[in-house]
Amino acid sequence: MTDSQIETLLADGIAAAKAAWHKDEHPTVQREHKLRAQDLLQQVIELDETNAKAWLWLSTVVNSPQDRLICLENVLALDPANAAAHKGVVLLKQQYPELFDDSVAEESDAAEESDAADDYAQPSKQGCPFCQHPISQMDTVCPHCELPLVVDCPVCNTRVDVELDTCPRCNHLMGDYHLPSVYFTQLAIDYRENHRTGRALDALRVSERLQPDQPDLYRQIGEVLAELGEPGAAISTLETAVKKEPDQMGPYLALGRVLQQEGQWERAEKVYREAMRTAPESSETYYALGNLLFQQNRLDEARKHLQHTVKIDPQHGAAWARLGQLYDQNKKYQPAVRAYRQATKFLIPNTPDEQRVQERLKILDPQLHGRTARSWWQLILQTAVPAAIIFIAALLDARFQMTQIHWSGWLAILLGIAGSFLWVTAFSLPRNPVICALTGNPQGIDEMEHRWIVSTLGAILWLVALVIILLPLG
Ligand SMILES: [Zn+2]
Ligand SMILES: [Zn+2]
Repeated sequence: MTDSQIETLLADGIAAAKAAWHKDEHPTVQREHKLRAQDLLQQVIELDETNAKAWLWLSTVVNSPQDRLICLENVLALDPANAAAHKGVVLLKQQYPELFDDSVAEESDAAEESDAADDYAQPSKQGCPFCQHPISQMDTVCPHCELPLVVDCPVCNTRVDVELDTCPRCNHLMGDYHLPSVYFTQLAIDYRENHRTGRALDALRVSERLQPDQPDLYRQIGEVLAELGEPGAAISTLETAVKKEPDQMGPYLALGRVLQQEGQWERAEKVYREAMRTAPESSETYYALGNLLFQQNRLDEARKHLQHTVKIDPQHGAAWARLGQLYDQNKKYQPAVRAYRQATKFLIPNTPDEQRVQERLKILDPQLHGRTARSWWQLILQTAVPAAIIFIAALLDARFQMTQIHWSGWLAILLGIAGSFLWVTAFSLPRNPVICALTGNPQGIDEMEHRWIVSTLGAILWLVALVIILLPLG
């Protein structure tokens, strides 16, 4: 098994362990997650027993405090400075002092083990829920472990005791404080969703103190710092995030975005290209780079990247919008309209981006001129002018005697009409009634990708017709 397969196994195990602690899950589901997490993390350890992360996460899902202690001791043997493991051992010592008395450690039986597991899940009635030290009723931060004892509800701002799993006022799910680092990270996510960025940063800082080696933590801190208008701090934090998880796409994208905002385009491009290395076929990296290139007015490269984005993910509204803008800027209005139309299907309605697209579409969309585009009269009028030139030339050649027109003259007239029709259809009336009937498509060739081929063919036919008359056959 390769390292990356072990990493995947570990990531799945951690995800299952986290899910096992999620309060909004049904107890049976929680139990399933727990068993799955045990299984996956044990597999990782069988393959690599020096994996401290696997031992640490396993400690959160084993059934007995004895097993938990073994896991934590293994973490500390591998990584003596691991703060989370130290904290876990302290917690165990307070809850199960007998564990640390060697003679008793062997004596537990299965019944006791399951009791112990239940005890662990119960909120403590006295003392700090995190470190169990005695606290006063007035404390909002534990004087010993310095963790917050009350937090603001992300939705309604009510002060909520960390031991409550739902907000008493709005019933928002507050999460499970038993796994403090996960609790505070999740709280930060909720704060961000509710646009309370400052609070999110506080929660992430607490989480960082608890477990600085959490995956994805520094990416989140960096993004929050950027949102709070501290680009310098955001960039250095995101650089740390990239160093910590060099194979994850998220930190690169986050770093690239801040650099781009700061006008450091060259660095941003480098970072996005690194992101591409971690996930070669991700629509997000292609979009990020395409967007940056567009901003730098490197339109050809930008177009390639944006086209690739919508090829990977045809529902990428932002990429369609940017692509529309790019065509628009190049005065390629037909493809611009097509891209804008796609964008409106996938962008969230009434957002500034979506409204901008709608505005532009109102101006450009030939559907507004649908009546002209579909009228017989326009088709005949526009086709007649170039076709008439060929006809008059043929007539001139026959000294204005219709009956004297050579068969090659009639051929030229036919080619002239066909050429004019193709030219007009591709150039100005892609939804004319004839082409709609011929293609069986009510949009005619309006949606066609390479319409220039049709207009070129039309022009060539017309020229051939003229040549035939000027150099009569036979
Ligand atoms: Zn405490
Ligand atoms: Zn609330």
